[in-house]
Amino acid sequence: MSASSEPATGSNIVTRFAPSPTGFLHIGGARTALFNWLFARASGGKFLLRIEDTDRARSTEPAIAAILDGMRWLGLDWDGEEVYQFARAERHAAVAHAMLKSGRAYRCWMTQDEIAAQREAAQAAKQPYRIRSPWRDRTDGPLDQPHVVRIRAEREGSTTIRDLVQGEVTVQNAELDDMVLLRSDGTPTYMLAVVVDDHDMGVTHVIRGDDHLNNAFRQLTIIRAMDWPEPTYAHIPLIHGADGAKLSKRHGALGVDAYRDELGVLPEALFNHLLRLGWGHGDAEIIDRAQAVEWFTLEGVGKSPSRFDLKKLDSLNGHYIRAADDERLAQLAAKFLPFEATPQQLDLLQRSMPALKLRAANLREIADGAAFLFRTRPLEMDADAQALLEGDAKARLHSLHAALDAVDEWNTEALETAVRQVAETAGVKLGAAAQPLRAALTGRRTSPGIFDVLVLLGREESLGRIADQITASPGN
Ligand code: GLU
Repeated sequence: MSASSEPATGSNIVTRFAPSPTGFLHIGGARTALFNWLFARASGGKFLLRIEDTDRARSTEPAIAAILDGMRWLGLDWDGEEVYQFARAERHAAVAHAMLKSGRAYRCWMTQDEIAAQREAAQAAKQPYRIRSPWRDRTDGPLDQPHVVRIRAEREGSTTIRDLVQGEVTVQNAELDDMVLLRSDGTPTYMLAVVVDDHDMGVTHVIRGDDHLNNAFRQLTIIRAMDWPEPTYAHIPLIHGADGAKLSKRHGALGVDAYRDELGVLPEALFNHLLRLGWGHGDAEIIDRAQAVEWFTLEGVGKSPSRFDLKKLDSLNGHYIRAADDERLAQLAAKFLPFEATPQQLDLLQRSMPALKLRAANLREIADGAAFLFRTRPLEMDADAQALLEGDAKARLHSLHAALDAVDEWNTEALETAVRQVAETAGVKLGAAAQPLRAALTGRRTSPGIFDVLVLLGREESLGRIADQITASPGN
């Protein structure tokens, strides 16, 4: 037995992302969503979203909201309304009943004890356990007694999947057992629900993590029993941490929302980073949305696990920050300020962005770097800044104050000339003048370029901050 239906091409392609809303949208899920989205967009097909909320105890509304929100933030728009799996339980059950009718499924009254005894016997004989129900060939069970519905799976031969990523994978049918389709309370199992939904949604390509490869064989038995077209499968390798171990929180793997709200990552950077997790196009590292849609193919997905590396994400994010519009950056970075910015402060933040974004790896760093703009006089010096104000720093600040006060045009060139002159006259390197100046102006040891700092603060505030440190008592 092997996949037989004609593969869908071009605009007939339908993919789906089918998250279980038992937690937030994590990196692995977001990458699966991205690959499905790209494959659909690259071919002019459709990308659908199905929320697999059949686990009533573990599915939550906040998780659903976080998944939808995370996808919107990443720009992974889906076609049509999202489908909720639980709401379709009747349809799933109807398919099981159709299979009962056609003889591809049967009712089974095996008790838990009988199943356990079979399992123990198989273990004792060192055989892999596969359920063998006596009800497979009986029709005289008591319909009013609790029972499940099982598929009547092929036992002979083998099943082959031609997976677009994994290649040809074959499983002996004897290894697949008569799985349950309907539980004794009449509710459909996950395996049945996935197959029915994929069919009804017209899914042509199932792209998902390779932890689902085994499920694909079980799902195929249902598909074939129903005589439905078989989807093309692409099982993508899982993501590992930078150390090669299975990805976990320890590797900095967070929910997508945390990258946005805690780390200050731009969606285009996370998009690019997710794309590079397991997919490549030559040596290209920086690949934006439009380029990704143009280049993406499933053939470009590697077979071995990809490694998630926060450092790479930082460097991509830095790239996209420098490319981003300053007004947008100011709006986004303002969320990381420890206070609500006024329109004037937002304006200042935006004007400061060309200087602030130069070295920043994320929005949080931008907000930290901007903190000096909003401090009020007299500034509190941190320990490093205080150390820069010891010794002859005060004398230097004196000369700097005088030289800067005399500058006509308050712009970076004029300010640089003035500061260089002070250093030269004192016979010291530029840094020996710039460092105390930086401390006085920002209260820190590091900041954006010192001449940018002067321009952004303006004449009055800059001279005031310098004067404060000249008159401050030591150690203050
Ligand atoms: N709901 C499954 C999961 O979140 C995915 C099922 C599928 O893609 O077929 O792992």
